[in-house]
Amino acid sequence: MPKVDYSLTGYNRPKLETPNGEKKLLMHSCCAPCAGEIMEALAASEIDTTIFFYNPNIHPREEYELRKEENIRFAEKLGMPFIDADYDKDNWFKRTEGQENAPERGERCTTCFDMRFEVTAQYAKDNGFNLISSTLGISRWKDMDQINNCGVRAVNPFEGVAYWDFNWRKQGGSSRMLELSKRESFYQQEYCGCVYSLRDTNLWRVSRGREKIKRGVKFYKQAMDALSLNNTKE
Ligand code: SF4
Repeated sequence: MPKVDYSLTGYNRPKLETPNGEKKLLMHSCCAPCAGEIMEALAASEIDTTIFFYNPNIHPREEYELRKEENIRFAEKLGMPFIDADYDKDNWFKRTEGQENAPERGERCTTCFDMRFEVTAQYAKDNGFNLISSTLGISRWKDMDQINNCGVRAVNPFEGVAYWDFNWRKQGGSSRMLELSKRESFYQQEYCGCVYSLRDTNLWRVSRGREKIKRGVKFYKQAMDALSLNNTKE
């Protein structure tokens, strides 16, 4: 296997520093495309990072496993420790009861972020990490303030654990995220994750005459290949 080049050479993101010189970081990860650029930047910045995959929101189970496996594949490539946390979907459904019809970025998403951050913060406390963060914020579909508020709220009960609210989108983060997803041929999910986001994305598509989502078939590289094939045909 060729050696992974995760040096900072070739892109402009400066070397990352943890807020208070923390030596270790517990990074909640939602999926490989969001995590890839962040993991690479952290590795290049020599921040001792452990990935924490806790996403009981993802529905159905096959989708959860696929997103998780993609993330494990990249963590192994970087030699980054990966914690495979519980898929306690029953608790997720219980906690979001009554919020089934909330829009994305609404109250259900706050509940969903709260739950994921709370478990991450608890794991950090129990396992000697004093800093947590999340890859959730790199997506432009998400509300960064909403995510950061949940992160801060989650660490509040745990003395000695802080939340790092770094804006991963800036300084080329968003474009590197896409570039890296293509390079690694990551699975390209087409809905946020929960059954309600799958439902709503499909409703939106159908209302515009588009096909419903076909789960498990789209990969970033394939999308690029299709694009170059189309370009060749023209
Ligand atoms: S839309 Fe996404 S963030 Fe919101 S509840 Fe569903 S999975 Fe969680």
